[in-house]
Amino acid sequence: MPPGNLPETIVGETLATLPARPYLSAVKIVYDKEICQRHGQCVGAAPELFEFAPDGSLVVLNTNPPEELWEAAQDAVDVCPVQALTLEKE
Ligand code: SF4
Repeated sequence: MPPGNLPETIVGETLATLPARPYLSAVKIVYDKEICQRHGQCVGAAPELFEFAPDGSLVVLNTNPPEELWEAAQDAVDVCPVQALTLEKE
């Protein structure tokens, strides 16, 4: 049963054209290097977004990742044992 009293075809067209998360337009990875202990879990969880530099420091490769990497970014935040990473959602 479609929501409200809209014909099913209109509801289907509307849902098909909506972005997956219409309330979010961007996310920003915030990294606190003072807290980071270089455990590396974030690199394992999201190698597209994090890597270690030759000097051992952590590099955030893209602080404003595209939507297809939002889940990986959240995974990295979740696995960091010292909460050095947060996501700001806009
Ligand atoms: S998991 Fe956390 S502590 Fe470890 S390198 Fe990444 S940000 Fe730093």
